[in-house]
Amino acid sequence: MEAIAMTRVHLTESSYLSALQCDRKLWLDVHAPEESTPTLEARQHIYRMEDEVRAAARNLFPTGVRVTAAVEDHDLAFDQTRALVADTSVSAIFDAAFEFEGARVRVDVLERMGAGPARFGIRAVTPSTYLKEAEQLPGLALQKWVLERCGLAVQSVELIHVDPEYVRGSGAINAMRFFARIEVASRLGEAEMDEVGRRRDSVWDVLMRPAPPHQEPGAICRRPHLCEYWDACTAEKSPTWFADRPGAHADRRAVLLEVAETQKSWISESLGEELEAVQAPFWALEFGVIGAAIPLFEGTLPYQPVAFQWSLQRLAETGEIEHFEFLADGRKDPRPEVAASLIDAVGRDQAPILVYSGYELRRLKELAASVPAQAEDLHAIAGRLVDLLPLVRRNVYHPDFLGSYSLNFVTPALVPEMNYGSLIDRGDGSSPIAAFVRLASGCDRAQDEAADRARLLALGQRNTRALVEVHRALVEIASEIKTHSGVDDAQDTATS
Ligand code: SF4
Repeated sequence: MEAIAMTRVHLTESSYLSALQCDRKLWLDVHAPEESTPTLEARQHIYRMEDEVRAAARNLFPTGVRVTAAVEDHDLAFDQTRALVADTSVSAIFDAAFEFEGARVRVDVLERMGAGPARFGIRAVTPSTYLKEAEQLPGLALQKWVLERCGLAVQSVELIHVDPEYVRGSGAINAMRFFARIEVASRLGEAEMDEVGRRRDSVWDVLMRPAPPHQEPGAICRRPHLCEYWDACTAEKSPTWFADRPGAHADRRAVLLEVAETQKSWISESLGEELEAVQAPFWALEFGVIGAAIPLFEGTLPYQPVAFQWSLQRLAETGEIEHFEFLADGRKDPRPEVAASLIDAVGRDQAPILVYSGYELRRLKELAASVPAQAEDLHAIAGRLVDLLPLVRRNVYHPDFLGSYSLNFVTPALVPEMNYGSLIDRGDGSSPIAAFVRLASGCDRAQDEAADRARLLALGQRNTRALVEVHRALVEIASEIKTHSGVDDAQDTATS
């Protein structure tokens, strides 16, 4: 077997962090990134947030100069960095690029310290609200290791993170108050630098292999995030593999295995009885919520959930479905309008309101706390919620659930005629959160704003419709079981 040509392989901070999670992931990152599954919307949203937070942090260094070379244009980035490091009038360099023996790093902010001999501080910017040691220190250690080997005297290493107690005022973000800084240089001493050197050598050993090392998928695949090679690594597994996957429902394992083997649904005897508590007329509700690292509205905190949209469907006793919806324009704090319009919509009657999980209940409580004038009505709405998820979990398991009770699996399994996947975000900027951020920041052109609004409303309508249709499918299943047991009883009577 041929060794891989190492001249085209570089160790980056991200591949170094991959190595700490799993050697196989490291190898795939570098040699076969095409095997990754398109990143989930949630991760894409985090990448966008990281960029926004990094941009905001540059305001802490008003005279800083940015290395403008594109991420892939390394040689130009190194040249620009070298020139800026040599220019003692430059107090801070953004996106400074360094390489030592194939290890490449980009430093969010390289701060020049003092007027004497050149000494520098590494500043890493993160959208998190505290130091995540296992995730952030290894990357900082690699940066320090590379910079010192490039001849720089690194005097300080800081993590610049979001202060979770910052409350947005009426104007722009105040960077001095929005960010907190933690000095971590004392945790990156000689022993840690030696460890980087040792790990780097083992990383090269892995990268030199002609094929990815074997690693049995398991708990490591979820720390710190679900690995993007999960689908590739589990593709050849047996049909019952998902029963052992991290996070699978241990209490359902026997049912999961039986259904996977027989490919027949499992239905509990009490499904029909439990469904009697949820009969039409009822409503189905879903909120659209944003929790931005940089708060969008005055008086809100980083990551505070802010409801900006709701979608409702009402199933009448006749089977007729009506749709209602609200989507804020994003120009001001949407919560008062969200609360008032929701109260108005579901105030038409006192029918139960179907939800899926405790998410809507939590959002209603937050809404009540942020709009005290409407709190009483919102608590009354919360009292009408009926959660369909525990009912499904207790009573139904379909082979196509594949170990999950998420609506993403439950809907296509129980309502195959519904094209549930057609609006699922593909991480291309079409996510609800990204769309609302564009609306709120006013950076949409008119036609894009119309498209974003249409997409958000369509997602809300689809999700609440899914809830109604899943309920309808459950009622049909229960009714079929009742019919069959009636036939069986009649046959028993006839033959006895
Ligand atoms: S899915 Fe798991 S085993 Fe596969 S590369 Fe990722 S962490 Fe490693």
